[in-house]
Amino acid sequence: MSDVMSASITCEIIAIGNELLIGDVQDTNTHWLIQRLTGLGGFVRRCFIVRDEFPAIAAALHASLADHTRLIITSGGLGPTGDDLTLAAVAAALSLPLVEHAQAMAMLAKRYQELAQVGWVKSAEMNAARRKMGMFPQGAEPIYNPVGGAPAAQLQVDATTIVCLPGVPPELKGIFTQSMQPLLNELFGSATYQLRSLIVDCQDESFLAAKLQSVVERHPQVYIKSRAKRFGPDMRINVTLSATGPDDPTVTALIDAAQADLQATLEALGLHCEMDTTRSG
Ligand code: ATP
Ligand code: MG
Repeated sequence: MSDVMSASITCEIIAIGNELLIGDVQDTNTHWLIQRLTGLGGFVRRCFIVRDEFPAIAAALHASLADHTRLIITSGGLGPTGDDLTLAAVAAALSLPLVEHAQAMAMLAKRYQELAQVGWVKSAEMNAARRKMGMFPQGAEPIYNPVGGAPAAQLQVDATTIVCLPGVPPELKGIFTQSMQPLLNELFGSATYQLRSLIVDCQDESFLAAKLQSVVERHPQVYIKSRAKRFGPDMRINVTLSATGPDDPTVTALIDAAQADLQATLEALGLHCEMDTTRSG
């Protein structure tokens, strides 16, 4: 791990849902969150996929808290049905009572009134299933859901912030990109991440790896990784250079220096390399 990465905000993701573990639904939420958190300069250390079960959710949460993760995001299980039990499981795992949250209830009541007005639901009545989505672990605060019914929940446990998001991808994305901005600014500030990708004309990854090692050692703040792009006689190798830092100019300078060193090292060996514009950003 580079020096810069170890100084980053550690993040862990817990994707919750039986459908994910029977192969019915592919867990795209984790992938999307990893990209966003990394782009903000966060360091995603670990991800879990667990069933809609109290012990499974508690085990993941306890493991993540034990490692002093700064930000834990859960996905899924906030809905009205009986198998949506994330908030109850989080409360139980932390030995907190599950209590009715007035503001969350008001958000839900308003959303169902809007849905009833346009005829998407029959009535705006706050029945038991709907009230369930306003039951929060004590101390948690709701985060507005601009897309769907269930508000997200945010809870502080010592130095760890836990955010529970719904599983439906447009809802998860809407809350993250719109309603979580104040929290994300507070956590990540102006930290930033960049990745640049090069393609090297080389058939032998093990030969290349040995030559890359000296460049890696000279640039400890840049993560340099090679990956076979295509096998066969015209095999080419992808080398990515990525770094996290306090602002864009700092990160660009780190990557520029590593790239120049890498290109000089490879050219001295007669290996041509060029920018992969499809992946760099
Ligand atoms: P709802 O209020 O709609 O029930 P929820 O928070 O309870 O929201 P889930 O019941 O866990 O969400 O999931 C609803 C749907 O969202 C799933 O059936 C699936 O289609 C999708 N989904 C859930 N988790 C993921 C995930 N990790 N990646 C991609 N899609 C997901
Ligand atoms: Mg559900």
